[in-house]
Amino acid sequence: MSTLLDLVREDLRDFAGYASARRTGLQGSVWLNANESAWCNAADAAGNAHRYPEPQPAALLGALAGLYGVRPEQVLAGRGSDEAIDLLVRAFCRPGRDAVVVTPPVFGMYAVSARLQGALLREVPLREGPEGFVADLGAVGDAALAGGAKLVFLCSPANPTGQSAPRAALLALAERLRGRCLLVVDEAYADYAPASSLARDLDAHPNLAVLRTLSKAHALAAARIGCVLAAPELVALLRNCQAPYPLPGPCVQLALAALEPGALAQTRIRVQAVVAERERLRAELATLPAVRRVYPSDGNFLLLRFRDAGTAFRDLLAAGVVVRDLRGWPGLGDALRISIGSPADNAALLSALQAGKVAA
Ligand SMILES: *Cc1c(COP(=O)(O)O)cnc(C)c1O
Repeated sequence: MSTLLDLVREDLRDFAGYASARRTGLQGSVWLNANESAWCNAADAAGNAHRYPEPQPAALLGALAGLYGVRPEQVLAGRGSDEAIDLLVRAFCRPGRDAVVVTPPVFGMYAVSARLQGALLREVPLREGPEGFVADLGAVGDAALAGGAKLVFLCSPANPTGQSAPRAALLALAERLRGRCLLVVDEAYADYAPASSLARDLDAHPNLAVLRTLSKAHALAAARIGCVLAAPELVALLRNCQAPYPLPGPCVQLALAALEPGALAQTRIRVQAVVAERERLRAELATLPAVRRVYPSDGNFLLLRFRDAGTAFRDLLAAGVVVRDLRGWPGLGDALRISIGSPADNAALLSALQAGKVAA
C-alpha cells in the first residue's frame, strides 16, 4: 500500500461506499433498477431529469482535467470545493485524535469541517509585513509534524487576505510533509493570479492536493461545481466517501457548456477585466482618507483596513452596498473585504465611501 493511503483513516481504507444504481456498470435498454419514474415531469422540458445522474460524468472529468492540466483520474468533482474540504477532513481525521493545520485569518470552511468531524485544529497565524499577509510555511510544517496533523490547508491566493504563496515554497513544504501529512492548496482564486497552479506538480508530490472551483472566475456559484485534484488512489478513495449522486444533472450540463471553448474565452476576458478593475479600485481606495491600508490581491476582492470600519460598513449599507464585515476575525478588527463588482458596482462603492460619514 502506498504511503499516501496510509494517512487515510484506517477504517476507511477498504471502504467501498454506497453501491448506487449508477455504479453497477450494468448495460441495458430497459431501466428498472433504481425506482425512478419512467415518465418525465411535466415541467422537465428537456426530458432528462427522471433518471439519477452519473456520479462522476466522464465528460465533466475530462473537461476539468483539460482545464487544469491533469488526468481525469486525478479529478474528483463535487458540490463546490466546500464538499471536497469536508470529504478530505472526514477521510483523513479520526474524531478527537487527528489534527488539521490552518493559517488564520483564512477561509472558514477548513475549521468548520474540522469541527464537524471532531478533528483537532492547529492554528498557525499568517504574518503581516510590508508585503501584506504571508503564511509562515516553516512554522506550518513544524506544527503539522509536531502535532501529528493529517491535513494542512493553505489558501493561495488567500481569502480574505489576497496574497499567493510562492510555488517553490509550497512544494518544499509538501516535500517536508511527504509520508506524514497531506498538503491541500486551495486555489479557488488562482484564475485571477499571475502565478501558475500547483495542479501540474501532483505527479511529483503524491501528498499534495489542489482545490479548484467554478464558483468564482467561471461565474457558476449557483451550480455548485468544484473539485479536488489529487493522486488517483486518493481520488478513488474519496469517491467512495462521497454521496451517491453528488452532481445534479442540470448543474453538470451548465458546467460542460461553461467549459466549451467559446465560453472559456469569454471567461478569460472577464477575468482580465476583473484584474484591471481590481488594480484601478485598489489605487482609488488607497487615496481615500477613511482607508488606512489596501492590501495587494491576487483574487477578485480587496482587503482594506479603515480608520473606522464600522462607520464605513454602515455608510456602504446605507447606500445599498453590501461588503464583507471582517471585524470579528482575528487581527482584522478594522477590516472589510470588498469583492470586485461590475464597473457600476465599483463606482457605487467609491461614491458611498467618498460621501459617507466616514469621509467627514
Ligand atoms: C469561495 C471559496 C471556496 C468555495 O468554493 P465552492 O466551490 O463554491 O464551494 C473555496 N475556498 C475558498 C478559499 C473560497 O474563497
